Amino acid sequence: MALLTKAARGTGDVLPSVSYKNRFIESTMLEIGNNFGFKEIRTPVFEHTELFNRSVGETTDVVQKEMYTFEDNGGRSITLKPEGTAGAVRAFLEHGLFNEPMPMKLAYVTPCYRYEKPQAGRLREFHQFGVECFGAAAPAADAEVIALGKHIFDFFGIDDLRLEINSIGCPGCRKNYQAALREYFNSNIDDLCETCKGRLDRNPMRILDCKSPVCSGIAGNAPKILDYICDDCQAHFDSVKKYLDAMGIEYTVNPTIVRGLDYYTRTVFEFVTGSIGAQSTVCGGGRYDGLVEQLGGPSVPACGFAVGLERFMMLLEARGIELPAENPTDLYIASMNDEANIKAAELASQVRQEGVACLFDTVGRSLKAQMKFANKMGVLYTAVLGTDEIANGVVNVKCMADGTEVPVALEDFAVNFINMSINKAVDDFNVGDVDVSSVLGGLL
Ligand code: ATP
Ligand code: MG
Repeated sequence: MALLTKAARGTGDVLPSVSYKNRFIESTMLEIGNNFGFKEIRTPVFEHTELFNRSVGETTDVVQKEMYTFEDNGGRSITLKPEGTAGAVRAFLEHGLFNEPMPMKLAYVTPCYRYEKPQAGRLREFHQFGVECFGAAAPAADAEVIALGKHIFDFFGIDDLRLEINSIGCPGCRKNYQAALREYFNSNIDDLCETCKGRLDRNPMRILDCKSPVCSGIAGNAPKILDYICDDCQAHFDSVKKYLDAMGIEYTVNPTIVRGLDYYTRTVFEFVTGSIGAQSTVCGGGRYDGLVEQLGGPSVPACGFAVGLERFMMLLEARGIELPAENPTDLYIASMNDEANIKAAELASQVRQEGVACLFDTVGRSLKAQMKFANKMGVLYTAVLGTDEIANGVVNVKCMADGTEVPVALEDFAVNFINMSINKAVDDFNVGDVDVSSVLGGLL
């Protein structure tokens, strides 16, 4: 039965006590992205497997061992997206977005799927906030994308992130580097893991990204890409740094960053933290000038990044950063009998149309039990309807924060209730001892 009552390994639920945080984080990131000109795109959760093989790269860990790939009933090979860029590029091509004014800036929040060994900060279903900037080859675009990442972290008050940047050159200058790497790793070939032995011929740079301690130990002394990049790539990298300096963004150059996906060219970067254990890269990105063309489109330069949202949330937690609480329920309309509960439904419907968060009894509870429930829900106001209230056309509305009661007419109840709560907030504000949000709630 555990199969029925336990989520699949490496996946998890986001319960109501937490989901408002996800919603806040996701909408805030999209909002900040929008300030930088990035517009939201939504692409499917699954794509043709070929798309990821071609874009992420056959020699990467993701394609070699992490993809959720299956044949659908029509015999097509389908893969759940392991990252967001490939789908965005596919959509960019499919809809001819390259004919629109450039740069075309896209942002997304998406689930991603990778068959990995689950541990803290490493899941099989995780979520990314990502951005892609198409059609801008200049170093200013790399720097702007990095600046967006920085803005997002700053907004949330995350101050312990280190920005690490590197250039991995272009296919031209990488040739010499790959030759040097092959020579170096060949002299250590017996110690490399089996996967890396296979990578040596096809893509020796992948060895630099291997997670095995032995391979990464050997990789530590490997030739450095920055000694091999061509003049154009060097000038591009220097210019990116100039832009970052001008924007007051601190960074360190880390020549060992190559990133886990094959499509990167020139600038690569990571935001790394010391606060959440081994899975320390919260955001990774870079330039991928060849990818659009590689997938059959025109030659369009591009750059972007992705933030791992679960790691981001771990970081908020580790740093003790609180997010704004969800709006409380404004009003609970309790009832003393069936007839009054029907009136409660009518009034609830009226106030809800005016944006008031309101509840009434749908369980058939006693008045006492209704009040207990309202208390547990942390509602701001309660009102108790009985035969007398309905006959007199007035109900007392009680402020739960201070116990004061105000009679409110049932005729035009929504307007009367809202006016009452605003008047009360103004009074309390003048007295100066009450947090206005505790009596105005979602109305603010
Ligand atoms: P790592 O080196 O940690 O495996 P990666 O290089 O595979 O990361 P990317 O493909 O660049 O990661 O994905 C961008 C971001 O997505 C990462 O920086 C991380 O925050 C997040 N991420 C990647 N894989 C996972 C995962 N399995 N679970 C949770 N978050 C992940
Ligand atoms: Mg990985």
